[in-house]
Amino acid sequence: MATITEVTQRPQVKQTQCFIGGKWLPAASGKTFATIHPATEEVIAEVAEGDKEDVDLAVDAAREAFDHGPWGKMDARQRGRLMFRLADLLEEHADELAALETLDNGKPIRDSSAADIPLVIECIRYYAGWADKIQGATVPIKGDYFCYTRREPVGVVGQIIPWNFPALMCAWKWGPALAAGCTIVMKPAEQTPLTCLRMAKLAQDAGIPDGVINVVPGYGPTAGAAIVRHPGVDKIAFTGELATAKIIQRDATETMKRLTFELGGKSPNIIFADADLQAAVDGAHFGLYFNQGQCCCAGSRVYVQDTVYDEFCERMVAANEQRQVGDPFDPATQHGPQVDQDQFDKIMRYVDYGKQDGAKLLSGGERFGDRGYYVQPTLFSDVSDEMRIAREEIFGPVMSVLRFREPAEVAHRANDSNFGLAAAVWTRDIGKAHRLAASVRAGTVWVNCYNVFDAAAPFGGFKESGLGRELGEAGLDAYTETKTVTVSMA
Ligand code: NAD
Repeated sequence: MATITEVTQRPQVKQTQCFIGGKWLPAASGKTFATIHPATEEVIAEVAEGDKEDVDLAVDAAREAFDHGPWGKMDARQRGRLMFRLADLLEEHADELAALETLDNGKPIRDSSAADIPLVIECIRYYAGWADKIQGATVPIKGDYFCYTRREPVGVVGQIIPWNFPALMCAWKWGPALAAGCTIVMKPAEQTPLTCLRMAKLAQDAGIPDGVINVVPGYGPTAGAAIVRHPGVDKIAFTGELATAKIIQRDATETMKRLTFELGGKSPNIIFADADLQAAVDGAHFGLYFNQGQCCCAGSRVYVQDTVYDEFCERMVAANEQRQVGDPFDPATQHGPQVDQDQFDKIMRYVDYGKQDGAKLLSGGERFGDRGYYVQPTLFSDVSDEMRIAREEIFGPVMSVLRFREPAEVAHRANDSNFGLAAAVWTRDIGKAHRLAASVRAGTVWVNCYNVFDAAAPFGGFKESGLGRELGEAGLDAYTETKTVTVSMA
C-alpha cells in the first residue's frame, strides 16, 4: 500500500459564494462553513452558508427567469446550443474540475478524471441534444375535435444532491431540467460544494442567462428545507438518504410539488458457478470498492454459488491486497479516504456489527494510516441474510459474501430487501441471465458487468430506492408537464 503524501496538485478554489440571479453573493447572514480535504482533514476553503433568505432570493431569480425571462420562451434549439457550449467549457476545464472534485471529495484523481468528469460532459451534451426534440402527440379522441398534447417545462425546480458524485449528480439534475426549459435552485451537499459552484461559473460563461441556474450552498435542514417548503418551487429532485427523502416528501406535500427521489440500495451481485470466475471477481471488486464503496448502487450483497464460493473468496482477498490505498492525488491510487468523519465512524460501526454477528473477516476492517478518513478494503465471508451487514446500507468499502445453491433460492433472497436500485448476475448461461434479470426487483440489472452508466440509459430505484427515473428519455418526464389541447373543428 502506498503511503499518504502531501497533496501537491491543489487546484485553485475560485468560487465560494452563493450564485443567485447571475450574481456571486455572500450569504445574507454573512455566515460561512468549512469544506475539508478528506485525505488530510485540512480546511480547503470557507463557503457561504446559505439559508432561507438566500433561498428566497434564488427562487425569486429562478421564477423571474422562468415566468418572464428568456429561458422558458427561448427557442428550444438555442437552449440546446447554450447547453452544448456549457459541455464544451466543461471539457476545456476537465482537468481542473477533476482535481477540484478530488480535493473536495477525496476520490482518486484517476477516477475523477476518467469517470466523473467525462460522464458530466457526456450528460450535459446528451441532454443538449434533447432540447429541441421534446414533443407532444396528436390524440385521436371521439367527436369533431382536434386534440394534441404539449410537453411544457414543469417550472422552477429545487435540486438537492449528495456528496458521493458531486459534479455528476449536478449534471444528472441540470441536464434534463435545462433541456426541458426549467429554471433551477440547487443545493449541493455541505461536504462537497466546490465543483457545483465552479460548474455554475462555467454555465454563466457559456451564456446561460441569469437566474436560470442558481446555487445556494448550505446545510440540509436550513437551506435544503427552505427550498422544499418554498411555494415558488414547482418540483423537487433529490438524491440522498431514504430518511431525508421521507422528511422532504412530508414537507413538499404542502404545496403539491412534483417529486423525484434517487435513494439508497443494498444491491445483490449474483455469481453462478458457470461464470468466468476471474471476470466475476474483478467485476464484484469494482462493483463494491469503486469510489470507496460510496455508491448508491454498490454491489454490497455478493451471492456466490457454493461450488465456487471458497475460490471466489480467495481471489477477492488477493484483489483487496493489491488495491492501492493512498493519496488521492497520486495517479497510482485506486482507493482514497471516505468523505468525512461521520461516514468513517458509521463504516467502522458496521465492521464491528459484522464481527459481533458472526461473519468471518477475511481482509481489511481497520483504519489505514493516521490521518484522513481512510478505511481499508474490507471483506466478510460466511455472511447470512439476517445480519446487519447484509441488510443495511453501509456506504463504505465493506463487502458481504453470501452462499447460495439454486437460482430460484437466490432470486428470492436477492428480492428480500426494502431496496431495489441495482443488481448484477454473472453466468455463461444466457437463459439463466435473462430469467434472473426479469425476476429481480431492481431498476437496473447488469449481466456480466457492473457500474456501466450511460447518459442514455435510465437509472432509478424500485421500492424504497426511489421514485422516478433519471437519465435517458425517461429522465425528461419529471421535468415536463403534459398539456392537452382540444380544438373544436365544428
Ligand atoms: P443525505 O440525505 O444526508 O444528504 C443529501 C442532501 O440532502 C444533502 O445536500 C443534504 O444537505 C440534504 N438534506 C439533508 N437534510 C435535508 C432536509 N431536511 N431537507 C432538505 N435537504 C436535506 O444523504 P448523503 O449522506 O449526503 O448521501 C448518501 C445517500 O445518497 C446514500 O443513501 C446513497 O445511496 C444515496 N445516493 C443515491 C443515488 C441514486 O442515484 N440513487 C446516488 C448517490 C447517492
